[in-house]
Amino acid sequence: MFSLKSFCQISALALITATSAQAEDVNIYSYRQPDLLKPLTDAFTAQTGINVNVAYIDKGLIERMKAEGRRSPADVVLTVDIALLAAIVDADLTQAVASDTLAKNVPAQYRDPDNHWFGLSNRARIAYASKERVADGELTTYEDLVDPKWRGRICTRSGKHDYNIALTAAMIAHSGEAAAKEWLAGIKENLARKPQGNDRAQVKAIWAGECDIAIGNTYYMGQMLSDPEQKDWAESVRIIFPEFDGHGSHVNISGVALAKHAPNPEAALKLMEFLTSPAAQEIYARANFEYPIAEGTKPSDLVASWGSFRADEINLMEVAKHRAAALRITEEVDFDNK
Ligand code: FE
Repeated sequence: MFSLKSFCQISALALITATSAQAEDVNIYSYRQPDLLKPLTDAFTAQTGINVNVAYIDKGLIERMKAEGRRSPADVVLTVDIALLAAIVDADLTQAVASDTLAKNVPAQYRDPDNHWFGLSNRARIAYASKERVADGELTTYEDLVDPKWRGRICTRSGKHDYNIALTAAMIAHSGEAAAKEWLAGIKENLARKPQGNDRAQVKAIWAGECDIAIGNTYYMGQMLSDPEQKDWAESVRIIFPEFDGHGSHVNISGVALAKHAPNPEAALKLMEFLTSPAAQEIYARANFEYPIAEGTKPSDLVASWGSFRADEINLMEVAKHRAAALRITEEVDFDNK
């Protein structure tokens, strides 16, 4: 299985090099697994006759595109997290796209005000709560996480991980840096253990009785339920959607951008418009237990079963602006050294 996948990745790269000069091709550099994209790229090719070549890149995408410069075969970049989207834009590797279709398909809060990136799906950063040890209504806001009743009961991954930095950056955007720093210090005070592992490791810790509340992204619930080894962890918790006081729950996105030196910009725009269409968003979101974002779209039945929530209305570019401050205050409270 593993070697087959590696082979596919290598041949996708070879294909990009071999075919980038032809007009009816479009090349994707993707941080997302190729199997998430396959149903969509197949449908796009069937509809338009344009071939889609995917190079799966899990690290170093920015360095690679910088090194390739004007000769980069990349037309479209697909990635997760506002941190990466903002970093690609900051590195001057994207170009603005003027498209009424994109503006119509993607709500304003999920696209760059300067039109350099567009969201395709989102995920909320929520609390996983022990079904046995946390009652309904005990946690309703992110601010509640500092309540002394949670002393020794919260687990999380590193405060410096992109997911937590975005959450802290959103807290800064809503409440200011001083309040956000106090909040981080309060959560640190309530941690059951030193921050470690990934989001799923925190749910495992709830299952094992080490903590009662974990901070994590919604789609991991779907991933854990699909994994026989992790199913019990998932079944020991339920999802709570905390809100920022007076706002909604923190969400982050997966998104798409047009590469600055795209050799096939027209085909790339068609692909971007296709990927943001409501039908494509539903398929894309479903593949990783995420939420489609276009008006009128619905998540899968499983994702819907976790409950409905109000997403924070803030534009993610506003959140991204506070990332440096978020990292600084996380270091100042020495969050990772419980
Ligand atoms: Fe993740």
